[in-house]
Amino acid sequence: MNILVIEDNEQNLYLVRFLLEACGHRISEARDGAEGIAAARVAVPDLILLDIQLPQMDGYAVARVLREIPALGAVPVVAVTSYAMNGDRVKALAAGCDAYIEKPIDPDTFAAEVEAAAAAGRREQKGHT
Ligand code: MN
Repeated sequence: MNILVIEDNEQNLYLVRFLLEACGHRISEARDGAEGIAAARVAVPDLILLDIQLPQMDGYAVARVLREIPALGAVPVVAVTSYAMNGDRVKALAAGCDAYIEKPIDPDTFAAEVEAAAAAGRREQKGHT
């Protein structure tokens, strides 16, 4: 699938690209929220991986903007953050993210977690008619 990765850390970006490309996915990159939002509008991806700690707009703000874009209504947004202990999972879901992957990224499970999130689809669409 086509995956947009919004991540400001070059090492994380490299690792994510490496792990997902190894599974046959196509990666596009954005290094801040504004760039990511623009990229998602231009070429709607199948899934968005969203770092929460970003310069300027944080990932929560980015998620809220992404969720306002009708063309992205079916696109899962997966938060990636190391702030697992601070209620950030709840904040990420409240901001419109559909799933959550914790840093540090585990190379053995990361691609499978992303694929599971894609298969699960949009959280908010479930149970609604
Ligand atoms: Mn970051």
